[in-house]
Amino acid sequence: MTKQGHTIASAGVSRRSFLMGLGATAAVVAGSGLAGCAPQTTAAPASTGDGSGSTDAAGSGATGAQKADTIQAAAETPAEKQETKEVDFVVVGSGVAGMSAAVEASRAGATVVVLEKHTITGGDSSICSGNFYCCGAKKQDELGYTDYGTPEEVAQFFFDQSDGDANMDICRLVAENGGAAMDWLVELGCDFDKKPGDNVSDRSMLSTTSGKGIVDNLIAEAEKNGVEIMMETRAIEVLMDGGKAAGVKARQGKTEYTINAKAVMLASGGFDGQDWAKELYAPGAVGWHTFSSPSNTGDGIELAKQAGAMTLLKGGLSQIHLVGREPLPLNDELSALRMVNTGVFVTDLGYRCANESMTSQFDYFTPFVESGRKEFTIICDSQQPEKRLELIKKGVEKGVVDTADTIEALAEAAGLPSYPLTKTIEKYNALCEAGEDTDFHKKPEDLQAITQAPFYAIQITPNTNDSFGQLAISTKAEVLDANRQPVPGLYAGGTLGNAELFYMRYAVSGSSMCMGTVTGRIAAQSAMEYYGA
Ligand SMILES: Cc1cc2nc3c(=O)[nH]c(=O)nc-3n(C[C@H](O)[C@H](O)[C@H](O)COP(=O)(O)OP(=O)(O)OC[C@H]3O[C@@H](n4cnc5c(N)ncnc54)[C@H](O)[C@@H]3O)c2cc1C
Repeated sequence: MTKQGHTIASAGVSRRSFLMGLGATAAVVAGSGLAGCAPQTTAAPASTGDGSGSTDAAGSGATGAQKADTIQAAAETPAEKQETKEVDFVVVGSGVAGMSAAVEASRAGATVVVLEKHTITGGDSSICSGNFYCCGAKKQDELGYTDYGTPEEVAQFFFDQSDGDANMDICRLVAENGGAAMDWLVELGCDFDKKPGDNVSDRSMLSTTSGKGIVDNLIAEAEKNGVEIMMETRAIEVLMDGGKAAGVKARQGKTEYTINAKAVMLASGGFDGQDWAKELYAPGAVGWHTFSSPSNTGDGIELAKQAGAMTLLKGGLSQIHLVGREPLPLNDELSALRMVNTGVFVTDLGYRCANESMTSQFDYFTPFVESGRKEFTIICDSQQPEKRLELIKKGVEKGVVDTADTIEALAEAAGLPSYPLTKTIEKYNALCEAGEDTDFHKKPEDLQAITQAPFYAIQITPNTNDSFGQLAISTKAEVLDANRQPVPGLYAGGTLGNAELFYMRYAVSGSSMCMGTVTGRIAAQSAMEYYGA
């Protein structure tokens, strides 16, 4: 596996044996260190690991009816062969959380198997930019980025970003261990610098080799320690023995594996990789595009439920909005147009739907969901700073911005209903004149009436790139049941375990990779303590 490439493994072989025999089939995808949450790669088609191959190939949030390819459905396909393995620790998912757990446990001498349902390793962790939000890492001190505050301040920040819905113990867990997690990744060969951009906090670091570089280093260390990564192998059941997790049942093509283990970690990521899974866990976002791995379909929720876990489904997703109906990448210069605060955000029905003063790319999730719509448009006029006007004109040339001399004509050009759009703009202009936005509470300084032709309509499309609200975990990364008691032997981390860190919207870029590393390591430590390693 090269630094820049994902390896596509065939069914029926472990990742290692495949690599020895088939190096030439490596598919190379770009990964060029973009800032923000820009996707680093185009995800390859997902395999379900059950031989059906029925998942959406592009992972593009395709609309239309999709077969719900749940683990229960996968289990119904008859297996032709049975295999058994015995290990200390079995991990479901090869993203940052699962691989951190595998490295931590294997370094302490545990025998570890990682199950990966996809044809490629790393899930969202390998697609992501590699922002890492933490305080007190040696790297930050070394580079002079020391204005990061205290762990308690970071924890409070997470809590506040969740509108008070998070669990302060989990916020502290991530905040207090984030710096050490980055030190650990650096020791494994990862490197970080400050995230580029103006007014960026000293807590915001960026992997110099993107998220994929982090996963590659973890995999290299895990394989050095003898960890087996079984590709295209989908966990379909947590095996229980006397109320304790005792292994995992998995499918690799037509072979069913029983993997007996002393402890189990679920690190299967989110559920926004497929529309059918969003339908189950966050219906408000069905039909939205996704950057997430197509193999992230909420399997961990179902696996943990079988074992008696409590689920905290909150319908939340990390969402960013992009310019264009076939959205332009985030690093396209025209993407800056998605934040025209002086414009008016309307749905495809022509109604205003958001407070346009919001400054984070993550802030629009709730208003978008509440609107119930899938397509949005920013209406603005020509009273824009020169540079923005230049970009808007480029957008017109590229077909992602429509323009006209009246609001009625603009509505027609943009495919919006003239009524109520004209009324929406009239109402908005009246609010601007009054100097107070009694509808959405936009900042008074952004209240600029839309009066000067030509007028513009900037096409906006929402995209998701992570999921919030699945399992609740303890500060030892134990999966909790409805009485908030640990399910013995069962651990979770990363996105699957983030239900009490985030609420509807994403706190800040970099907090997920930090959370994944922290909870992966802690899950392994707790598992080994549990079974007395
Ligand atoms: C485009 C994009 C940009 C992002 N940028 C950032 C960023 O800069 N910083 C940040 O902190 N976060 C970022 N995120 C979010 C971050 O990538 C994720 O939160 C994080 O990678 C989740 O890690 P994980 O280990 O929990 O899951 P993942 O990395 O998604 O791994 C889960 C794995 O489990 C596998 N799996 C699922 N079900 C099963 C099953 N039944 N059996 C076996 N395997 C299974 C999946 O195939 C997948 O490989 C970004 C996400 C995207 C999509």
